[in-house]
Amino acid sequence: VKVEDKLYQNRYRVDSGNSHITIKPHETPSPELLALVKVCPAHCYTQNDKGQVEVAHDGCMECGTCRVLAEGQGDITWTYPRGGYGVLFKFG
Ligand code: SF4
Repeated sequence: VKVEDKLYQNRYRVDSGNSHITIKPHETPSPELLALVKVCPAHCYTQNDKGQVEVAHDGCMECGTCRVLAEGQGDITWTYPRGGYGVLFKFG
């Protein structure tokens, strides 16, 4: 079974309008922000037509990669979703 097929088995309870990830407003993205577009396994980060990086939190698997990479520099803020929300992994 491919990893992608396994990922499709995850379910999400989305906390609409209450993102657990925010990106610091920027004109030009830092190298770390740009890297998030490539490294996020759920492809939550994209670049808009002005080149700025945006995040869609609803597919986040809470892996922490972006947090490690970009929170320290203040490029993003990251908290766990509120209780009951977020990714629901299928076990087994
Ligand atoms: Fe992507 Fe992981 Fe960050 Fe969620 S925690 S946005 S899945 S890199």
